[in-house]
Amino acid sequence: MQVELKPPLATEPLAREAASVIGRCVHCGFCNATCPTYQLRGDELDGPRGRLYLMKQLLEGKPAGEITRLHLDRCLTCRACETACPSGVEYGRAVEATRELLDQQLPRPALGRWQRTALRMFLGSAAFSFALTIGRLLRSWLPASLRRRIPPREAAGPWPVAAHPRRVLVPRGCVQPALFPRTDAALARILERLGVSTVPIGGCCGSLRQHLDDPAGGLADVRANVDAWWPQVEQGVEAIMMTASACGLQVKDYGRLLSEDPAYAQRAARIAALARDPAEYLAGFATELDRLCTAKDARIAFHAPCTLQHGQRLGGSVEALLTRLGAKPLPVADAQLCCGSAGAYSILQPEMSRRLRERKLSALTAGGPTEILSANVGCIAHLGAGTDLRIRHWVEWLEEHCS
Ligand code: SF4
Ligand code: SF4
Repeated sequence: MQVELKPPLATEPLAREAASVIGRCVHCGFCNATCPTYQLRGDELDGPRGRLYLMKQLLEGKPAGEITRLHLDRCLTCRACETACPSGVEYGRAVEATRELLDQQLPRPALGRWQRTALRMFLGSAAFSFALTIGRLLRSWLPASLRRRIPPREAAGPWPVAAHPRRVLVPRGCVQPALFPRTDAALARILERLGVSTVPIGGCCGSLRQHLDDPAGGLADVRANVDAWWPQVEQGVEAIMMTASACGLQVKDYGRLLSEDPAYAQRAARIAALARDPAEYLAGFATELDRLCTAKDARIAFHAPCTLQHGQRLGGSVEALLTRLGAKPLPVADAQLCCGSAGAYSILQPEMSRRLRERKLSALTAGGPTEILSANVGCIAHLGAGTDLRIRHWVEWLEEHCS
């Protein structure tokens, strides 16, 4: 799909990036079969191939319109289409760049801008933590549909004192410490038993603002993290690990995001190279985990977040680790499909998001699991709002099965 960039876009870096990605597309349509929004709507413009055509039109100077925005907004950026594409089209890069261009050419109507600004300011803020605390206090009086949206408070438990020479950095992210404080602490305790100390550090990974129409703010978060984390890198942390797979994916992309910034490019690339998902890192401790942990015949269903399987390309890694310990992850139909969480998508596109969650929960519960495990805070909160079955991060579950 050749794109003929016209001035002034011919020299615009975002346009050139999107055009080079779209140029690899051979129109085969294999991607449509794995696209959740195409499956729900059956409309070519709500599938990846149709969206690539819309992007091409915009890049070739056709006037940008609300129809283009509508179909690009409905995209979850789940990147299932990238996994399916035989031509290696990096759809995610193309859609991110084109959305930014679209916002420059045709500013979003005031209501949409206000909604996104409010979300950027609220999610992960002190006000978010406060609202969550109030919600938890009132939880037992709320109707079930509302109650499920507020995860019960679980104590994080102690964070081990850093006593080992081997150390990893654990950035906490912005939303997870308030919603699920136990997850990072559970990882820290598992690693402690394996002879690795963990250093917790704060800061949003940058994806929140980047995906809510504030790419400059997202990059500011990335630069702040590079500055804050670098002293730990210089002191020799052997990995940087985020338990939320969406945040982990973002950190793995730091090198690309800051590649044009001479003051940050080198450090950002080094940080990206150190980023590991817990499943990747723990795979190096298989013998020790065999000794410490047992999960014989546990019937669990694992939901692989898109950021883990399509973004980080680590599909099957968590299931392999748990299976080795004796667990029986149940087969999940259409496991490549998004659950509908996708950052703030569940708030911005509630109807599509709800339908995707129903489909996902039906697939996850078909085999009768005792609980559902996942690897990303957004998916866990979103799926949890649709079921009474227990759902939590797999590292919390693992800790419970290790002595
Ligand atoms: S990123 Fe996901 S929702 Fe968007 S076009 Fe690709 S498969 Fe469809
Ligand atoms: S699978 Fe790849 S090459 Fe085929 S239409 Fe989709 S994006 Fe284009």
